[in-house]
Amino acid sequence: MTGIFSADFEAVDESEWRSSHGAELYGVNEWGLEYFSVNPQGELLACVENGSGKVSAPIIEIVEGMKQRGLEMPAILRIENLLDHRIKKLNEAFASAINKLAYQNHYRGVFPIKVNQQCHVIEEIAQYGRHYHHGLEAGSKAELIIALSQLPSDDGLIICNGYKDAAFIDLGLYARQMGISCFFVLETPTELPIILERTHQLGIEPLLGVRLKPASMVEGHWNENSGDRSIFGLSTNALLEVVDQLKAADMLHCLQMLHCHLGSQIPNIRNIRSGVSEACQFYAGLIAEGAPLGYFDLGGGLAVDYEGNQTNSAHSMNYQLDEYCVNIVETIQEGLDPLGIAHPVIITESGRALVAYSSMLLFNVLNVREHKPGSLPAELPEDSHDLLINLLSVLKTLNENNLQECYNDSLYYRDEIRELFHRGQATLRERALAENITLAVLDKIAELLPQAKRFSPELENLPELLTDIYYGNFSLFQSLPDIWALDQVFPIMPIHRLNEKPTRDAVIADITCDCDGKIDRFSRPDGIQRTLKLHPLLENQEYYLGVFLIGAYQETLGDLHNLFGDTNVVSVHINADGGFDFVKEFHGDSIADVLSYVEYDTKYMQERFRRTAEKAVREGKISVEMRQKMLLAFRENLQGSTYFEK
Ligand SMILES: *Cc1c(COP(=O)(O)O)cnc(C)c1O
Repeated sequence: MTGIFSADFEAVDESEWRSSHGAELYGVNEWGLEYFSVNPQGELLACVENGSGKVSAPIIEIVEGMKQRGLEMPAILRIENLLDHRIKKLNEAFASAINKLAYQNHYRGVFPIKVNQQCHVIEEIAQYGRHYHHGLEAGSKAELIIALSQLPSDDGLIICNGYKDAAFIDLGLYARQMGISCFFVLETPTELPIILERTHQLGIEPLLGVRLKPASMVEGHWNENSGDRSIFGLSTNALLEVVDQLKAADMLHCLQMLHCHLGSQIPNIRNIRSGVSEACQFYAGLIAEGAPLGYFDLGGGLAVDYEGNQTNSAHSMNYQLDEYCVNIVETIQEGLDPLGIAHPVIITESGRALVAYSSMLLFNVLNVREHKPGSLPAELPEDSHDLLINLLSVLKTLNENNLQECYNDSLYYRDEIRELFHRGQATLRERALAENITLAVLDKIAELLPQAKRFSPELENLPELLTDIYYGNFSLFQSLPDIWALDQVFPIMPIHRLNEKPTRDAVIADITCDCDGKIDRFSRPDGIQRTLKLHPLLENQEYYLGVFLIGAYQETLGDLHNLFGDTNVVSVHINADGGFDFVKEFHGDSIADVLSYVEYDTKYMQERFRRTAEKAVREGKISVEMRQKMLLAFRENLQGSTYFEK
């Protein structure tokens, strides 16, 4: 809490606070790349390319537009041109590295469908990606069906990973026959006999790849994809078995791809270099065995800097996109050139880096539980309990030299009074007074901490406990599952009022009433913080927060905890004049929808409720008119949103 960074912001007078302070405080330029900025009116802008020009639109205006169209908060906002731009950047960065290093082949990207399977996202990738022959990666039959329906038969690749049964293989072979470049990547040796059998039956030759199991380890959260403990890929021995079986079947010429996925969100560029370097040796080894190869797939792993601090910590990255591409191209050249092996087509399966930026979760704040100790009486009543009198004197004698002592004493007296209350020897009001005085002591300690020379970790953590709770209209479990499951951090900030100094220290709670449904780790340029600076709520004005970079993995990993359903989703395209089109709108789940997911029959539920109401009429508890009103409310609620409605 005493970093230079935070101290600087504390020192800025409220009247001196500008939008630029807001942008800096929330690290917009760090995590937002060129896609987000703040205007002088304090509004967060989405900045994209339209044709050749740069345009921007205030996100708060898009929110207003959504409201006018009946799309209430919470909502996922997708910005179509931003997704387009990511596809363009990735492909152009590889093209430029290839050009610069005079690499003798080209790049082909494939998007792993699992990262965001939403129809509109895949459609946009397939459509816009066509300029770059961007393909799709499928990890299951369902995903292969998506890929086959989305990609026309030009040279965008379809790469099939995962377990493949005969039906899966037949589909892929049919695609081959239509001229689609559909690869089966072998993850286990047991897949090969099925592929050989189906090939025989249908008389269609497959394109095959082998997924290797690199020994190089990577850092970050998903490092188990690498090294000996990886559950994916062929061991060196299994790789050779596959080669031998293909030779025996006279099909080694089908083995055209080497596949290697080091893991997701690899924060350290050196790991990528060493992984690619190791894979090159496998590539050369397979060529020596007589496989033609020609395609070199390096999987995913290109990171997103969620923390915005450009380090090798788990949710950050210590490299840029251009550097990533140059490193890969260069490492392949260094590995293969000395052996005189022709340069293969380079493939990557970047998911996260392609889609994270284009989606954000927007929600309104419903209310705030302010951290505010209740008022204290100037004097205690004559007959007050000794413990209360002692507690109050702790507050009066507190100074920067006795913080720890006062901390210990206040908690001691408070707990003693709670104990008396428990035994029926103190009143409810005495207990409340004791708790209020203690809070006042803790508050004052937190205030004096910066002046104290030395203090214990216990005291250091105190300010985090004395924060406001902002209740947001969203479900963490539905919309931000990785915060709950992996302690992932995402950038979070208000989308307006950035030209006002935020004066409250807050944590954020969702509306599931689950103690895990909270956000209390926030990235800032100076490191992870336990609280977030926010603005006090204003009367008659909504306060909107955004959670950014959520386009990867969040949308379908979410669940129905407390039966909060899918949020509304809107896709906008920002036009050359800064206006925007609502290209797609999806209304989130109604209550009837989520009930049907857990197998309730809503017709029957209505009937049951009708019977209850009818019985109440018969017993004279309600009138028939009342009954009608209640039935209507029941019906209307079924059609309504699962979230808080205004
Ligand atoms: C998950 C996955 C990816 C995507 O990884 P990102 O880090 O999101 O780019 C790519 N390839 C395979 C095989 C995967 O399992």
